Amino acid sequence: MNTDAVKVLPGRYCNSLTEYSRFITREVNIGDVPMGGNNPIRIQSMTTTDTMDTIGTVEQTIRMVDAGCEYVRITAPSIKEAQNLAEIKKQLRARGYTVPLVADIHFTPNAAEVAARIVEKVRVNPGNYADKKKFDQIDYTDVEYQGELDRIFQKFTPLVKVCKEYGTAMRIGTNHGSLSDRIMSRYGDTPQGMVESAMEFMRMCEQLNYYNLVISMKSSNPQVMVQAYRLLVETMVAEGMNYPLHLGVTEAGDGEDGRIKSAVGIGTLLEDGLGDTVRVSLTEEPEAEAPVAIELVRRYTERKAESEKQKAEEKELLAFSVQPSASHSPYEYKKRETYEANAFIGGHLVPRVVIDLSKKNLKDPAVLNEAGYLYSPLLDKYNMAEASVDFVYLADELPSFVLPGNLKQLYNYNTWLKLADKTNCHPVFTLQEYIADVDRSSKLNLVRLQPADIDSEAFGSIPLDNSLVLVLETEALHGMAEQRAFFFKMEELGLDVPVIVKRSYVFDSETEADPKYSIADLTSKLQLYASTDLGALLVDGFGDGIWIDAPELPTGVITSTAFGILQATRSRISKTEYISCPSCGRTLFDLMITTQMIRSRTSHLKGLKIGIMGCIVNGPGEMADADYGYVGSGTDKITLYRGKEAVKKNISSANALDELINIIKADGNWIDLETPESEFSGLKN
Ligand code: SF4
Repeated sequence: MNTDAVKVLPGRYCNSLTEYSRFITREVNIGDVPMGGNNPIRIQSMTTTDTMDTIGTVEQTIRMVDAGCEYVRITAPSIKEAQNLAEIKKQLRARGYTVPLVADIHFTPNAAEVAARIVEKVRVNPGNYADKKKFDQIDYTDVEYQGELDRIFQKFTPLVKVCKEYGTAMRIGTNHGSLSDRIMSRYGDTPQGMVESAMEFMRMCEQLNYYNLVISMKSSNPQVMVQAYRLLVETMVAEGMNYPLHLGVTEAGDGEDGRIKSAVGIGTLLEDGLGDTVRVSLTEEPEAEAPVAIELVRRYTERKAESEKQKAEEKELLAFSVQPSASHSPYEYKKRETYEANAFIGGHLVPRVVIDLSKKNLKDPAVLNEAGYLYSPLLDKYNMAEASVDFVYLADELPSFVLPGNLKQLYNYNTWLKLADKTNCHPVFTLQEYIADVDRSSKLNLVRLQPADIDSEAFGSIPLDNSLVLVLETEALHGMAEQRAFFFKMEELGLDVPVIVKRSYVFDSETEADPKYSIADLTSKLQLYASTDLGALLVDGFGDGIWIDAPELPTGVITSTAFGILQATRSRISKTEYISCPSCGRTLFDLMITTQMIRSRTSHLKGLKIGIMGCIVNGPGEMADADYGYVGSGTDKITLYRGKEAVKKNISSANALDELINIIKADGNWIDLETPESEFSGLKN
């Protein structure tokens, strides 16, 4: 076992919480594209064609490789598909494509043993490979539990032997939604259960002296996924293992939601130096996934060298040495405890959203439309959308119209001081301004500062009362870690002041250098970067508000990115969530069209989580995170779920959406689209 490269300390999940440092894993050979060690973080995806459609699969694979995929996964539900992988591989090689292929296996050891002789890697799901799954609540005694492991060992050994003989790699891919009865009985569907599910198979592989392994811990909930990967690393290190990590958020959905959710999960782990390959799962064409994965990974290729350079040039960015606080566990969610700043922010209130409108046209009330306040010139009033920002920063600019009462205005201190009417207006100070003997607001005072300021004399003399809220900014390249270190330090000092986390994104140099960047490209970059930087803090319970600055992008993009991040981290729900699979060769209906159809009729059901799955390969456990499920169960057959319970089985797809809506209505969870949106309903909790 190559343990030389394992740097993570026992009880920890990454090399450093303050410096960018990649967790160096053992190198695994997958065809001629090795993974792990010091190799680049690899990009991969999965085909959506029927595996028996050789030409279709070959052509889709080529499109994926041309888009940047370094490995391509193809489903092999039975022996005949496994055998057809040979023909697919032959045709790809004949066309000059040497991309390593990965066979995706679920229930069929015999298909896996065929595929492992053909392709470069097989993926097995320990939750349903040679394992019993009746979704029963069974209490296993220690003897019964061990008996199950012995039985699995017997079934799993032939595959490991084939992989050893043919030099085939294997991914042990745990899925939150498909844990075995045995694991569920002992650990529940927890990150610990996910880790143990993989570890059992990893220990069996090592017992057979087979080490060509890659591990994944996927969930559609980024919080669970992040916790599971962290716990996996800690557990591996404790057992002297350092296998490469395949990162992915499963069933992330499509469009903006899919990108944000993926970035929150994958980006959070990449920030901590974890991850050797990335697969972004979108309910879109598979060739759309690689560019998203490439953009996520690109930030880390030079991160270490660039951070060092920045620190050498700008001493004030020096990260201070901190340890995570005793009360903070990276393996479970706990919101940082803060006081409630006079009912505006902090405490038990949902995280607030701040945007900067100071450079917009403040003569026109319609400027607020994209901030979620829809102005009607006819009625001369505003209606609030579900995603309406809480604070607008106006710097030193005064609007020439009356803003809605629910929207709080933030002004630079000196401008605020001169306002004749300060109703709904609050000051934003620098640290130096705030500690000077000045007029402060009795209700809410925001103070901008950088993480390193916490060690300054000025910070030590800051007057503390319930009106104070900090706005934490950073220019550091490894800014998330710097901001996180600030939270650890706050806890060490026993300070419960609410904090708004602010990040700024300026893409100017890139757009000037390369005019091919469109607004759509920059929007995608913003979604991925901000979701990583802010999401990584929110999944750990840090942050009472977020403030995203991106001067080149429209206000609407910033607003919806901010609310998307809060939704993906489950810290503030403002819309319906769709947990839709990316589709694959098992898919029983058109995922993209169906998802759009379901979205068009249910997107106003704020807070509901609807699962849309092409098949039930992972069983009803897949629905654990969804309120309702729409699942392919046969040709033109749909089964509808309420949670994990199948409530309508094998109904025609023509009626399925109407039936789903009827179930939602019967449960009292439906609201009519015509319901007028609330006007000035107050800051929502
Ligand atoms: S749930 Fe979707 S992606 Fe997963 S196996 Fe079924 S069809 Fe394929």
